[in-house]
Amino acid sequence: MKSVVCNQPHELSLHNVDKPSPQAGEVLVKIRAIGVCGTDIHAYKGQQPYFSYPRVLGHELSGVIAQVGENTQSKVGQSVYIIPYVSCGECFACQSGKPNCCSNIEVIGVHRDGGMCEYIAVPESAIVVTDDLSFTDMALIECLAVGAHASRRAKINNQDTVLVLGAGPIGLGTAQFAQAAGARVFISEVCPDKIKFCVENYTFDAVLNGRDDLNGQLKQLTQGQYPNIIIDCTGNVHAMESAFYNLAHGGTIVFVSIVKNKISFEDPEFHKRETTLMGSRNATKEDFEYVVECIRKGLVKPRSFVTHTGQFDQITELLPKWAQSDSGVVKAVIEVN
Ligand SMILES: [Zn+2]
Ligand SMILES: [Zn+2]
Repeated sequence: MKSVVCNQPHELSLHNVDKPSPQAGEVLVKIRAIGVCGTDIHAYKGQQPYFSYPRVLGHELSGVIAQVGENTQSKVGQSVYIIPYVSCGECFACQSGKPNCCSNIEVIGVHRDGGMCEYIAVPESAIVVTDDLSFTDMALIECLAVGAHASRRAKINNQDTVLVLGAGPIGLGTAQFAQAAGARVFISEVCPDKIKFCVENYTFDAVLNGRDDLNGQLKQLTQGQYPNIIIDCTGNVHAMESAFYNLAHGGTIVFVSIVKNKISFEDPEFHKRETTLMGSRNATKEDFEYVVECIRKGLVKPRSFVTHTGQFDQITELLPKWAQSDSGVVKAVIEVN
């Protein structure tokens, strides 16, 4: 089968390798769609923490069961999406119902080889059979689940005013879940193309230019109260640090995106607000199920942020183009026939 390997930063190559055979408890999935994530782009560029090379990228995956190992219940031919997080089940996080931040977590396509290939063998527990969504929609569930998890962490409800920092796929997903929860939702972005995309395709309460006076804009929009939930989906130090100064008193900050750097804040600003600061990592099975429910109800539209698509054989040419900062890509999906 064909497989695309990221040998080192900025170097992808297409290989012919043996098709894996599923071990006991595993199923073999024929990949049908691959969402290209910020993680893949950062890994390609050598900017991803927790990453080693060579690696087959790709963790936003859907496909069809092609073969089943012993001790499995699944059937050949079923359509599935993959939950790419393999947790240990034994650490404190796993034992507390938080396998998404398992201390031994292995993410398919990050810590172990992923799905930019024709077939992948995965534990049966990592697949969810779903027969009423397209392969493209199913490949976008993971990306949306990250936003669903962040919005669940913040316990968003219809009394909240939420500011989402960053209008990339994670930010757009997060903002849609905040909207689905009934909150007033602002989104802030610095890239003019993304601001335009956001205004044209979504109905958030305000789309703010993060390069302008963000504090002043928020003050005006909220009559001086400021958003009580700020969710960072930029992984940008300045954006993350701005959250400490633009938050309502009693409010909550959630950091979804990760930055390979230190962030700092003035303790009096943090303290006077009695700020709650939380990280949000990956997502749980409940988040994935919630995303599917929201897609079925039309509350989130997975394809609304897909700006680019390509075929499997083109990955080695397309990924470097999509990784350029002026590519105009909000979200790209690879289709595999
Ligand atoms: Zn992803
Ligand atoms: Zn664990």
